[in-house]
Amino acid sequence: MGVGTQSHCPYCALQCAMTLTPPEAGTGPTPVTITPRQFPTNLGGLCQKGWTSAEVLTATDRITTPLLRGADGALHPAGWDEALTVIATRVRAIQAEHGPEAIAVFGGGGLTNEKAYALGKFARTVLRTPNIDYNGRFCMASAAAGANRSLGADRGLPFPLADLAGAGAVMLLGSNLAETMPPSVQHLADVRDRGGLVVVDPRRSTTAALTGADGESGVHLQPVPGTDLVVLLALTHVVLTEGLADQAYLADRTTGATEVQRSVAAWWPERAEGVCGVPAAQLRATARLLAAAAPVHGGPGAYILTGRGVEQSTQGTATVTAAINLALTLGLPGRVGSGYGAITGQGNGQGGREHGQKSDQLPGYRKIDDPAARAHVARVWGVDPPTIPGPGKPAVQLLTSLGTPGGPRALFVHGSNVLVSAPNADRVADRLRALDLLVVCDFVPSETALRADVVLPVTQWAEEEGTMTSLEGRVIRRRRALAPPGQARSELWIFAELARRLGSGVHFGTDPAAVFDELAAASGGGIADYAGLSHARLDADEADGGPGLFWPVPGPDHPGTPRLFLDDFPTPDGRARMIAVDHVGPSDDVRPDAPIYLVTGRVLQHYQSGAQTHRVPELERLSSEPFVELHPILGFRLGIADGDLVRLTSVRGSIQAPARWTDRIRPDTVFMPFHWSGAGSVNRITTDATDPISHMPEFKVCAVSVTPLIPA
Ligand code: SF4
Repeated sequence: MGVGTQSHCPYCALQCAMTLTPPEAGTGPTPVTITPRQFPTNLGGLCQKGWTSAEVLTATDRITTPLLRGADGALHPAGWDEALTVIATRVRAIQAEHGPEAIAVFGGGGLTNEKAYALGKFARTVLRTPNIDYNGRFCMASAAAGANRSLGADRGLPFPLADLAGAGAVMLLGSNLAETMPPSVQHLADVRDRGGLVVVDPRRSTTAALTGADGESGVHLQPVPGTDLVVLLALTHVVLTEGLADQAYLADRTTGATEVQRSVAAWWPERAEGVCGVPAAQLRATARLLAAAAPVHGGPGAYILTGRGVEQSTQGTATVTAAINLALTLGLPGRVGSGYGAITGQGNGQGGREHGQKSDQLPGYRKIDDPAARAHVARVWGVDPPTIPGPGKPAVQLLTSLGTPGGPRALFVHGSNVLVSAPNADRVADRLRALDLLVVCDFVPSETALRADVVLPVTQWAEEEGTMTSLEGRVIRRRRALAPPGQARSELWIFAELARRLGSGVHFGTDPAAVFDELAAASGGGIADYAGLSHARLDADEADGGPGLFWPVPGPDHPGTPRLFLDDFPTPDGRARMIAVDHVGPSDDVRPDAPIYLVTGRVLQHYQSGAQTHRVPELERLSSEPFVELHPILGFRLGIADGDLVRLTSVRGSIQAPARWTDRIRPDTVFMPFHWSGAGSVNRITTDATDPISHMPEFKVCAVSVTPLIPA
């Protein structure tokens, strides 16, 4: 056996640890063999995606040369010099005619910290455009907005995942982590033994089923889609009216408790039941279960965790705010063994939102309209602060403005497949067609790459050095185990080459360790402070058996910060802000012509748009096509048998897929996974309405009609 390389899975934010080993004599089916490693997040486990992730490295249709669209309309191989010259020439021409803002950039939550940082810097200093955002707007924006507003900082889990094991109760709202990140459920085993797992989900998902057939391991609340906020308002009502709140904590560590108390006064459980469908008795029992586990009542601790199911909503920020209000009412955040957190999904969903590829942020989680932040980052970049553009359009608004009068004329896409992953995807396809230039950096020909004018082949996970940040804010190393194929190059090199060709005097490094050092300097003093970190320190920590370091790490001797908020919250007065919110309902609610709720989500075998996992034969064999999950009661009512082809229609269009009967879903709701393109691509009919604060789209609920498709 060759020497193993210590790295982490390329997919989700659990960042399971693995060792990559060259196969004996180079004869294996993949260029590296994967074995799981003990690590605090995965405890030695890997899911099917992790085990098979090496197969993506040798995907048969891997892009290995730049591609240029020719006069015949097809993509043809080209040299790097030719491809980069075409891009630079067209960018110059577009900007000369339409101004700097005519170029837009769309990043991804799977990029390393170094690439995410360099992308934001490239957009703002070389392209000089404010129009940069990324696909994290689709998955973490509401959690981030809610946590920033209420707690003063957004680190998905402001505590190590392993802390969950000691709790008396853990409430998961809209998270199916048993399928999306299976090894993580190991941290819930003890809580289940204590009967303390609470899952809020319209489906009896794999995670909800962990509460036990008779509820012996906890409680499953199955609300009407789009009413999670009502569940939280009612739980907070019960805690307050039954004298279960931690009044000393509210007085010492929060502001706004009185307003929140007033706002939930009208949400007694019987009224809530009428809206969310969860029995009043179950709401009361759940509130008491959470309170019994809280430290104020002598319990071992409790956690309230949100996921995309409740965040991907036009009231996503309000729902996160309500979850934090409930946690604060019980006195949980900032206490060892208790807390509130959001479960980040994408591989570098945490680091990806800290280093400047978000439309409103600069590195270090700094606000782009903060003069001090602009001055600090400008110093690191070697530019004048006024030259850094202000806030740009968030993702949906950016995508829907492409090619419109006054909107961007060109788009760079990095690590994202918007034609499958964006809401109302057919509208996005129209907008991409209206562009003068579409440049996609990818390692496989995703649906979006196949629409590009220029495709640039890039390295992927096992071919590059860098860092990622886990769902707990733990900064870890990604390591190179093999050389990239053909002419694939790192985005860091691409940014440096394009900067030179576009005549920028701003320096772009190509060594990931040096780029990280620059990132660390740019983040210094910010909320997500990496100033005390370097590749060398992370390597040394790991060599010593260390589990990575949690930000903030403000200096080289600082040990990192596994738990936030223990002394105070990073708000002006050091207190958490309780903010009253109320239920409005989904933007696209059911009605006579669209009487069924559609909810979307993931399956175990696939990741995001499926661009990677569809290229793994084993995963494809286990999950090869989209499906529509519906309850037999609904099937009987609509004349749809298990396996029948059905059509789902929303005001945005129609799609079709086979029906799959299950009693795990509410009879008023259908579920579809979002990993496929074509006729069964569910995001063709989801709504692109967005949350007014986070600008996150409402993927998780829209109204549809469901009809059987009778074969001709
Ligand atoms: Fe772990 Fe997530 Fe990779 Fe599965 S996909 S092995 S849960 S990091």
